[in-house]
Amino acid sequence: MFFSHLECSVPCGAGPFRARERHHTCPACGMPLFARYDMARARKWSRESLAGRRSDMWRYLEMLPIFPGETPVALGEGYTPLLRTFRLGDAVGLDCLYVKDESFNPTQSFKARGQSTAVTRAKALGATTITLPTAGNAGNAAAAYAAAAGIRCEIFMPRDAKQPFIDECRLYDANVTLVDGLITDAGKMAGAKAKELGWYDVSTLKEPYRAEGKKTMGYEIAEQLGWELPDWIIYPTGGGTGMVGMWKAFDEMEAMGWIDAKRPKMVTVQPTGCAPIVRAFEEGTERAEMWEAPDTQAHGLRVPKAIGDFLVLRAIRESGGTALKVTDRQMVDDMIAIGRLEGISAAPEGAAALSAARVLLASGRMKAHESVVLFNTGGALKYLEVLRSVS
Ligand SMILES: *Cc1c(COP(=O)(O)O)cnc(C)c1O
Repeated sequence: MFFSHLECSVPCGAGPFRARERHHTCPACGMPLFARYDMARARKWSRESLAGRRSDMWRYLEMLPIFPGETPVALGEGYTPLLRTFRLGDAVGLDCLYVKDESFNPTQSFKARGQSTAVTRAKALGATTITLPTAGNAGNAAAAYAAAAGIRCEIFMPRDAKQPFIDECRLYDANVTLVDGLITDAGKMAGAKAKELGWYDVSTLKEPYRAEGKKTMGYEIAEQLGWELPDWIIYPTGGGTGMVGMWKAFDEMEAMGWIDAKRPKMVTVQPTGCAPIVRAFEEGTERAEMWEAPDTQAHGLRVPKAIGDFLVLRAIRESGGTALKVTDRQMVDDMIAIGRLEGISAAPEGAAALSAARVLLASGRMKAHESVVLFNTGGALKYLEVLRSVS
């Protein structure tokens, strides 16, 4: 196990910070912290040693935030199928289209990955209660992992959250507080309570470990494609942990000699009703302004302001990728297209990745022969109401 220390993601120059202490954001500048590993040892770790290992994300144990003697809080997260979707590829005009199907995760979304690492650390650091704001999936995952770890979970959700998400938090015995306002308002309440009562805050990128769980998506895509990354990765972006995590994973794998310097073009897709990263990308700014009055059925993307916005924008730009927005109508149509053509259960957020591929193909930016991975970040079951309301 190579986990060694924490470092500011900016980096602002402060630190390094001790991995065995509780840190949330950079004590000097308040920005996200990254977990760092002993790369001298990591360079000697061969990817061949993965053969025969457990088929969840903890197969990459050495490069995850855990120390000898600790046990991961795990429910079977990660190592999800990378499906070659021929019928969908034919329909949109792509020869080599894949869907990374994150609906296979515990609680049916990729939020499980981040909560597995976050709760593993929270438990190791002696936390007895975790807290977070959520639109739904992050809360479901946090509640499930907290239950598995035997610690309390205090969830703050916008009052208009979809009912199945609220119900599922309660299934795992989490305490749910419904908040008037947006996820950012829920975040302020969770943060204030954490400060007051010593709860361990697992808000997106306000602790270093959710991004570590999400980075395993980058490791998996490389491993599943025989250590050659695709030309494009399309990622429905809310808080951006997955983009940030995968971008970090590619650097780690290159440093270990597992992949070469070629990177996929990273694409952020957001709804027209809440597209702060897209706007910042188009305007060429380093940070994204708060999006006023966000409005979309894809609640996982209804994030008007993200603390890690500069990290997402950095990944998009360094990769030569892009950011674009699609309508809720396009997403719902593509939920149906993915279901009808492939039998895949896609959340509106996941469907947005397909909508984005159509836009990129139509503009000529993406070519038919290029390999493309779409992230189906969650399953459709908790969103069936959206389908009914539109059809
Ligand atoms: C949270 C969520 C997203 C956005 O993920 P980030 O890593 O926060 O950008 C996308 N899709 C679904 C289904 C989600 O729950």
